[in-house]
Amino acid sequence: MKKSLRKQCEEIYEAKGVSAVFDLVNNLSKEKLAELKVVYENCTGCESESPAQNSCCLVCGQATTKISGIKKVSHNMSIMSIPENALLHGVVTLMKGHEAFKDATDINERIYQGDIFEELGGLLAEIKLKNPESKLLPSQKVFDQLDELAVLVDTDYLMITQS
Ligand SMILES: [Zn+2]
Repeated sequence: MKKSLRKQCEEIYEAKGVSAVFDLVNNLSKEKLAELKVVYENCTGCESESPAQNSCCLVCGQATTKISGIKKVSHNMSIMSIPENALLHGVVTLMKGHEAFKDATDINERIYQGDIFEELGGLLAEIKLKNPESKLLPSQKVFDQLDELAVLVDTDYLMITQS
């Protein structure tokens, strides 16, 4: 009969140490891990995230708890800034309410997703399609600037500053 994974890990741990257990688990296929119900969980015994089966650490055998999903990640975000007065009034008006962060109440800078101009262009195109005479449609100059900006802004975020 094939040894259980738990048993195998126990033996490997005793013979070769912690990293050998991790190696063993990491070498299993995704399908195999799913079949054996192996997940990484917080282990108090190991004081780290360890492979576990049925909330039992495969390294040290202690009870494990689910990882909360809260993790510290560092993420590089690119951002471009444009002074508001470089934009047509019609463009500024269209942008209202599309801020990426809604609680920006008392600052002079507003942050948008980098694809804000494409989004606005898309919204306008929809309106135009349904009603070419709609009063909601801005002047051609505004359309042109939206197109220009959609090409120009290639960052994750866009900041509009007051000066
Ligand atoms: Zn452990």
